[in-house]
Amino acid sequence: MNQAEVAAQYQAFKELGLKLDMSRGKPAPEQLDLSAGLLAELGDFKAQDGTDTRNYGGAVGLPEARALFGALLDVPAAQVVVDSNASLSLMHDVIAFALLHGTAGQPSWREQGAISFLCPVPGYDRHFAICEALGIKMINVPMTDAGPDMDLVESLVAGDAGIKGMWCVPKYSNPGGVVYSDEVVRRLAAMQTAAPDFRLMWDDAYHFHHLEARAVEIANVLDACAEAGNPDRAIIFASTSKVTHAGAGMAALAASPANIAWWQRHASVRSIGPDKVNQLRHVRFLRDKAGVEALMERHRLLLKPKFDAVHEQFGHLLGNVEGVSWTRPQGGYFIDLLTPPGKAKRTVALAKEAGITLTPAGASFPYGKDPLDRHIRIAPSFPSQQDITSAAKGIALALLLAAAE
Ligand code: PMP
Repeated sequence: MNQAEVAAQYQAFKELGLKLDMSRGKPAPEQLDLSAGLLAELGDFKAQDGTDTRNYGGAVGLPEARALFGALLDVPAAQVVVDSNASLSLMHDVIAFALLHGTAGQPSWREQGAISFLCPVPGYDRHFAICEALGIKMINVPMTDAGPDMDLVESLVAGDAGIKGMWCVPKYSNPGGVVYSDEVVRRLAAMQTAAPDFRLMWDDAYHFHHLEARAVEIANVLDACAEAGNPDRAIIFASTSKVTHAGAGMAALAASPANIAWWQRHASVRSIGPDKVNQLRHVRFLRDKAGVEALMERHRLLLKPKFDAVHEQFGHLLGNVEGVSWTRPQGGYFIDLLTPPGKAKRTVALAKEAGITLTPAGASFPYGKDPLDRHIRIAPSFPSQQDITSAAKGIALALLLAAAE
């Protein structure tokens, strides 16, 4: 297409007056409907051990909920805490507890001067928001096809005791869809850190969220850490936000026995116990690992055609454009679209003018600053199948127009 054709097509698209929101990776209504049975699940309120779930207590979660996450994450149930309605709050609280009380027998993080976290980029904006809100400096680490650049990670953590943690979305990362290789997991588990109280924030948000029929498996980080002599290094987070109902599901963390005891010590001050009624209805509805896998397959069948529609439109309109590429994730909720340098912000603005709301350009970088202004996070899940094709076309036209300016 020449420039005049692009401008004409963009104008025609704009005149359609569409209103499409692709700013967040939200499940679509028909995905939420898959778990409608959840709301009818409770005949009685008794857990397997006779606990009346309507009452206080059970700080680490119902035994059957812990067993379910244990099976899903391949971790002993005793090393799982099920708490809260969303995993992001557990991540926030782990960092808040470390800042306030310290971990690994060390002084609290706030008493140790300036502290920082490694942030593989592009990454998840809400991780970065937690660091920013809690005064933790962020250090960008480039992502490769197999996970973060490990040579850089190893040299940084070895030389600076102020680096206390690292964000990791090890499978189908947000937004690049990157899967960490077993070698990367092993190196993260074994690397020498100057900080004795260094923590891997292992956000396994997309552990069972496959887009292909063949599920990707990755190395078990708790096993790798234990084998390397660093059993307390990693804390795994997961939830059913994109299994049942987003923000109204079950969240879990899994870690070494010492970390579970540490968590319990501090979490018991902030709550008398989690929502066990919600946990009970979830376990009854999901049943077991096979039950979750069957449900995730139904999600996959709804999501995959939407991702395919984006790939098709992008392939058609952007396939031969210099400096433009996009990821083809095997799971998760996002596609990372790369524009020519300096064109992401402009593309998002032009898409907005044409009725398509995208995540702000730069959001997948700490402090909202994408140094080359190239990355746009595409979230295909929420619009209908029909709208997604239009949206992908509109985004591609906005990019072509921005690139030609
Ligand atoms: N982690 C990642 C990487 C995510 O993409 C999301 C949702 N967009 C979350 C966590 C949020 O999970 P939850 O609903 O369990 O807080």
